[in-house]
Amino acid sequence: MSPGGRLLLNPDLIRAPMESIDYVITHELCHLLIPSHSRRFYELEESVMPDWEKHKQRLERIMA
Ligand SMILES: [Zn+2]
Repeated sequence: MSPGGRLLLNPDLIRAPMESIDYVITHELCHLLIPSHSRRFYELEESVMPDWEKHKQRLERIMA
């Protein structure tokens, strides 16, 4: 997310599985409510997408 609230996605994401793209968008939308990677942020992210870590790790493997 940009400071102005604009969501920009890496075009390489198109290679990622849909679940990983959902993870990225979920992560960025959570930043609309909580800008920092605080404990509250991860609690929010987990409440929206309980298996977010699995999708994050898969995405990191694909994008490496
Ligand atoms: Zn973040």
